Amino acid sequence: MKRDADCIFCKIVAGEIPSQKVFETDTVFAFLDIAPVKPGHTLVIPKEHFATLLEMDAALAGPMHEAVQKIAAAAMEATGAKGFNLQVNTHKVAGQLVPHVHYHIIPRHEDDGLSLWAQSPYDSDAAMQEVADKMRATITK
Ligand code: 5GP
Ligand code: ZN
Repeated sequence: MKRDADCIFCKIVAGEIPSQKVFETDTVFAFLDIAPVKPGHTLVIPKEHFATLLEMDAALAGPMHEAVQKIAAAAMEATGAKGFNLQVNTHKVAGQLVPHVHYHIIPRHEDDGLSLWAQSPYDSDAAMQEVADKMRATITK
């Protein structure tokens, strides 16, 4: 299993940095975020070190997803939340500070003051078509 000696999340998995662990399997580890957006904010990570979602072994997607389903339900139960957001910040530009892939589970309540990002339509159908064409040409199967 790959490990990065300088990675704080690898150290948390190894127990070298303390954490409020809420769930663990042979491949997945989950613990409370030290600076939560809301109480119950949980980080779900593969035990193995992968810098971002793009490098993560796709075989871990199933175990990660199963963990998210269990932990999100538990976080809602524990905090009285009525929903949650699942977010994976990828690369610095998207807000990723810790380079060990992690899924954020953020419990949500009515009128909790949080908002999602602003959206707006494409300038034209052609502009939308152009982006879709470029993506289709790049995606490998
Ligand atoms: P990112 O910005 O990389 O998507 O999220 C990293 C998250 O890790 C942040 O929400 C931050 O609060 C959390 N975090 C950073 N260091 C520690 C730590 O040592 N322990 C815990 N429990 N959370 C941490
Ligand atoms: Zn790591």
